[in-house]
Amino acid sequence: MKQPARIVIGGGIVGLATALQWVQSQPGLPLTVIEAEPELARHQSGHNSGVIHSGIYYRPGSEKARLCIEGKTLMEAFCKKHGIRTEKCGKVIVATSSSELSELEKLVQRGQENGVPLRRIHTDELRRLEPDVAGLAAIHVPSTGIVDYRQVCSALRDQIQQLGGTVRLSKRVDRIDYDDHSVRIGIADGSEFQATEAIVCAGLHSDRLYQLASCSALGTDKPRHDGIRIIPFRGEYYELVPERRSLVRNLIYPVPDPRYPFLGVHFTRMIGSAGSGHDPVECGPNAVLALSRHGYTWSDLNRSDLMETLRFSGFHRLAWNHWRMGLGEIHRSLRKSVFVKSLQRLIPAIRTEDLVRARSGVRAQAVAEDGSMVDDFLFRQTPRMTHVLNAPSPAATASLAIAKRIVQLHTAQ
Ligand SMILES: Cc1cc2nc3c(=O)[nH]c(=O)nc-3n(C[C@H](O)[C@H](O)[C@H](O)COP(=O)(O)OP(=O)(O)OC[C@H]3O[C@@H](n4cnc5c(N)ncnc54)[C@H](O)[C@@H]3O)c2cc1C
Repeated sequence: MKQPARIVIGGGIVGLATALQWVQSQPGLPLTVIEAEPELARHQSGHNSGVIHSGIYYRPGSEKARLCIEGKTLMEAFCKKHGIRTEKCGKVIVATSSSELSELEKLVQRGQENGVPLRRIHTDELRRLEPDVAGLAAIHVPSTGIVDYRQVCSALRDQIQQLGGTVRLSKRVDRIDYDDHSVRIGIADGSEFQATEAIVCAGLHSDRLYQLASCSALGTDKPRHDGIRIIPFRGEYYELVPERRSLVRNLIYPVPDPRYPFLGVHFTRMIGSAGSGHDPVECGPNAVLALSRHGYTWSDLNRSDLMETLRFSGFHRLAWNHWRMGLGEIHRSLRKSVFVKSLQRLIPAIRTEDLVRARSGVRAQAVAEDGSMVDDFLFRQTPRMTHVLNAPSPAATASLAIAKRIVQLHTAQ
C-alpha cells in the first residue's frame, strides 16, 4: 500500500491550518492529517471564546504578538473568502479600581508598541459603548472581532481535501519510531502510518508526543520532555439568559493580572445566527486545574493524567507560588455567587438568576520545571519532525500565521 509522505498529527485549528499551508506550499506531495477523535476540533479549537484577538496583550517582539497580528489579518481574509461570518465588534478593557489604572496604562503602551489601533477612553465614552458597565477608565480596541472557530476548522478541512490531502479520524497516535529514512507513526488500533516527515499539533497531548519522538530519536526509554509539561486548566462559562443579553453589547474584559496568561472572566457576545440579534452572551472563562487532560467537568478524573501532573516538579513550584489564586479559582468554580461577584465588578446589575451554567473548555498550558507558565508559543524539533509544544490563546486567531511559521521552520530543518 502506498503510504503518505507527510503527516500532520492533530485535527485542531493549528493542525488543520498547518496541513493547508503545507499542501499549498508543496502541492502534489501526499499529506494526511491524523486525528484521535471521531470529529475535528473536539478540544480547544471547538471550546473557546470565539474571539479574533487584536494582539494588544502580548509582549512586543514575542511570537504571540507577531503571529496574532499577522494571523488576525489572515483569519479575516480566510473567513471572507470562504463565507464564514465574522464581526469586527470591538472590545473594551475596563479598570474597575484605582489599583488597576497603572496596568491599564501599561496595556495602552504595549498595544501601541504592537501597532494595535486603540483608544484610552473615559467613563462617558465607556457608558456610550457599554451602558451597563461600571469602570474608572477603559481601553477601546475597535479591531477585535468574533467568529465561530468550528466553522473555520470545517472550511480548512474542505480546502485540504480539495488540494488532495486526506483527513483520518479516530486515529490516536501512541507510538513514534524512527527508521533510517522515515518516521513510523503507530496508532492505538494497531495500524501504522509511515511518513518521511511530520508536524505535531496535538494540543493537550503535545508534550507526550514530543516525548515519544525524542525518546525514539535518542533510542532511549528514559522520559525526555525538556522539562516542559502540559498542565490542563479548565475554563468554565456561564451564559446570560436571553432577556438579560442586552446588558452586554460586545466584548467586555477586565484588566488582566500580569502574573497569569489568562485574561480574567469577561463577557463575550458569541457569533450566533446571522442578523438575528440573538447572539448568545457568555461569561467566563475562569481557570481551574482540570483533573484530566480532557477534564471538562469536576467529575472527569483520569488517574494517570492527574498522577502525571502531581508528580511533575514544575507543578509543585507552580502550586507553591500560586496556591492562593488556585484556591480562589476552585472556590469561584464551586460557588456561583463568587463567580457572579467577579462579573459584578464589570456589570453591577448582573444577578445570580441572570446566569445559567454553560459549556467549558480545557486549555493546554505548558509549564516549565521551574514552575513558570510558558508565556509564548513554543516550537521544538526532533529529526524530520516539528512539534507545536505550546499554543494557548490566541492560537486560534494566530493559527494561519503559526502554520506559515512552522512549515517554514520545518522546511529549513
Ligand atoms: C476556554 C478557552 C477559550 C479560548 N478562547 C480563545 C479565543 O477567544 N481566541 C483565540 O484565539 N484563542 C482562544 N483559545 C485558545 C485556542 O482555542 C487554542 O489556542 C487553539 O484552539 C489551539 O489549537 P490546537 O490545534 O493547537 O489544539 P486543539 O484544538 O486542542 O487540537 C489538538 C488536536 O490534537 C488531537 N490529538 C491530541 N493527541 C493526539 C494523538 N495522540 N493522536 C492524534 N491526535 C491527537 C486532539 O484530539 C485535538 O483534536 C481559547 C482556549 C480555551 C480552552
